[in-house]
Amino acid sequence: MLTIGVLGLQGAIREHIRSIEACGATAKVIKWPEELNEIDGLILPGGESTTMRRLIDTYQFMKPLRDFVVSGKPLFGTCAGLIMLAKKVVGSSDSHLGVLDVTVERNSFGRQRESFEANLTVKGLEDPFTGVFIRAPHILEVGQNVEVLSEHNGKIVAAKQGNLLGCSFHPELTDDHRITKLFIEMVEKCKKEANV
Ligand code: GLN
Repeated sequence: MLTIGVLGLQGAIREHIRSIEACGATAKVIKWPEELNEIDGLILPGGESTTMRRLIDTYQFMKPLRDFVVSGKPLFGTCAGLIMLAKKVVGSSDSHLGVLDVTVERNSFGRQRESFEANLTVKGLEDPFTGVFIRAPHILEVGQNVEVLSEHNGKIVAAKQGNLLGCSFHPELTDDHRITKLFIEMVEKCKKEANV
């Protein structure tokens, strides 16, 4: 059985837990760094990246999270979680975890469109997925090892690099759990390979 954690400091935590459970995996809210040892993969939820970063520092999560990435276990960042993963954030000299080779721009769909839904074509999914965007970032640039999974109006909104997955929107806010499932499949594959 796989256990997927959701970083439980701030943001849409419960919604991800619900989506993980709907996919048949065990879900765990991660409140303390030691708990990272108990999970096979981790989701960084959407919320507010500045606040999330402050809490990551307060609860001394930065090094344990980086170690988690180095261990090869999969990580999935949604919205603010994507900003946490990105190597570069436009307008900021500092990144957060800085592990996913992308440049992101925060709040990048304009004021008029702070929140919206869009039908997205996502690599790996047969039918379109309804993306819920809330003051969402988008990916401006990707490094050469990054695979673009989805674009909306010419803006990259989902990408994957090895065991790191990131998207601009909130896949946990609909009853369509296919993107959570994609991540769980990454975790499953990683766990199998580690046991070989
Ligand atoms: N705008 C937020 C930020 O920059 C992200 C919004 C979200 O996660 N829904 O952190």
